[in-house]
Amino acid sequence: MQRSVFIFMGPPGAGKGTLSARCVEELGWKQLSTGALCREHIARKTEIGKQIDFIIKSGKLISDSLIIALVEQWLLEQNDQRNCLILDGFPRTLHQANSLHELLQKEIFAALKLHVIRINIEDSLVVKRLTTRFTCSNASCQAIYNGTKELIGSRCSKCSSVLMQRPDDQEHTIRERLAVYYEHAQALAAFYKDRGYGVLEVSGEYPMDEVFASFKRLLGDTDIGRSLA
Ligand code: AMP
Repeated sequence: MQRSVFIFMGPPGAGKGTLSARCVEELGWKQLSTGALCREHIARKTEIGKQIDFIIKSGKLISDSLIIALVEQWLLEQNDQRNCLILDGFPRTLHQANSLHELLQKEIFAALKLHVIRINIEDSLVVKRLTTRFTCSNASCQAIYNGTKELIGSRCSKCSSVLMQRPDDQEHTIRERLAVYYEHAQALAAFYKDRGYGVLEVSGEYPMDEVFASFKRLLGDTDIGRSLA
């Protein structure tokens, strides 16, 4: 089976992280969530974390050069040739897409086949989903829960850390994140279309079991799909 890298695109709250988690748990794939990595830097108060804290809280994007360097480093660390890789939340701008494209031309990544997946969801559902989303405060867990504000302070079932609401999951910041997403979405879709990549689309509006099943169906007749059958 050819080793692949999957780009998971879609608005915030579409379910990129949850779908990635299913692929990691059930298919043994590897995932990089650039957002989770940024939050980890903030939680650990690294130099990068200090630089990006305010930007993330405001719902804007952090600099292309920084995020590209983080992605390149992660890709270089993925030595297990059997795994499919997921980039969750990257690329988000045309510059990032170009840089990834160039990176994947390098000899060291030449064997990686790129697949582009977009998870679609209505804005109103995004706002509803994210304002009722609570996240494990442990930077290396960041498990997601849905419910009411009473969940804040209760414990994560995976690692027992306290649950919190992400600062950027407040309604006004969610709307900013959606605006940022739409600012770049068309250019990204055109970029991949121009280079002959079909963007595989899946609806994120259903329960995750159904989204995961649709995703696996989408892979259908590819060698990856056949290996999942
Ligand atoms: P996410 O967890 O994917 O919703 O990302 C949370 C935040 O992290 C975003 O609103 C951005 O501030 C930052 N971020 C994540 N991925 C990227 C990226 N590819 N480019 C720039 N900023 C990013």
